Amino acid sequence: MAGLHLNDIDKQFGSVTAVRDVELQIPHGRFVCFLGPSGCGKTTLLRLIAGLERPTRGRILLEERDITAEPAHRRNFGMVFQSLALFPHLSVGDNVAYSLRIRKADPAARRRRVDELLELVRLPGYAGRHVSQLSGGQRQRVAIARALAIEPRLFLLDEPLSALDAKLREDMQLELRLLQQRLGVTTILVTHDQREAMTMSDLIVVMGTDNRVHQMGTPLEIYRNPADTFVADFIGTSNLLKAVSRGPGTFEVAGRPIAVEAAPAGLAPGGEATLSVRPEDISVVPGPREGGNTLQGTVTFVRDVGSSVEIYLDCGGVQIVSQSTPKSRPAVRQGDVATALLPPAACVVLTS
Ligand code: ATP
Repeated sequence: MAGLHLNDIDKQFGSVTAVRDVELQIPHGRFVCFLGPSGCGKTTLLRLIAGLERPTRGRILLEERDITAEPAHRRNFGMVFQSLALFPHLSVGDNVAYSLRIRKADPAARRRRVDELLELVRLPGYAGRHVSQLSGGQRQRVAIARALAIEPRLFLLDEPLSALDAKLREDMQLELRLLQQRLGVTTILVTHDQREAMTMSDLIVVMGTDNRVHQMGTPLEIYRNPADTFVADFIGTSNLLKAVSRGPGTFEVAGRPIAVEAAPAGLAPGGEATLSVRPEDISVVPGPREGGNTLQGTVTFVRDVGSSVEIYLDCGGVQIVSQSTPKSRPAVRQGDVATALLPPAACVVLTS
């Protein structure tokens, strides 16, 4: 399959393994986010792709060509890092034209390209401005224009929006996404912000504290079908319930039978698993209720933030949180006996 192929990559710095057993196939033209907690190896993986580091083991292939040993400047990739490093003594236009000048592009063509790029990042007419006269968001856009000047085969961004305030950051996320869609350039963005990853990506690569890739999938796949408890816990909020298999499609949680729609093959009766259930999939009804897929408990807390209501239940030592809209708010208060209903389709069985 064409695109970028990270083939069995390890990267060690002395005794520290920054990236372990990475096998990824990133299709051409997609917007991909590397997402994970601090220290999980996101930046290292991006630097390996950029050619700024060499893998200790494994190969990197672009459109089936091995580029593992190719130096960074030959890869023709555009890069934007958190520390922007625009040249402060140069104008906006000269910053954007920098790599074109190095490549000895003809001055007229260079000017045309700079105008085109500034148009693209919505800074038309800014070529003569000094970098110091720009806002944070405008500087980011100049950095993006500069990285795109060479028409990169890959566009690599390492937390480029993290220094911006929340509103500007959301605007830039949208702008960057629309720009990428217009250009169709394969783009990889490193972030530890899951909302950013969910908003922008075609595909998310979730990395864990063990410096491995835990899952790659669309934002919805990762949210609805997490591969393991780490992903379920890291992406959004999830109820992770200890469960014991009681036969095909049936589990026991806190002594109650819970049916699931899909269970992994090979889990024998008595086998342990975790059920991941999103709070918005759980409904709470007042009072006790018998029957399958119910957990009875006491309401320990009600959090009403206006747009949504969260009900916390203690079900015999198992903590449950459910989320509902104000319209479907259950009529329960702190201290009430209530029952949580867990739909079989919403219970994702995890064995690791
Ligand atoms: P953050 O979100 O905090 O930037 P990250 O997921 O990008 O983290 P990396 O910067 O890739 O993580 O680091 C992964 C691991 O490798 C960390 O334990 C880090 O300390 C280590 N590491 C990274 N670069 C080097 C280096 N040049 N020398 C030694 N160790 C390094």
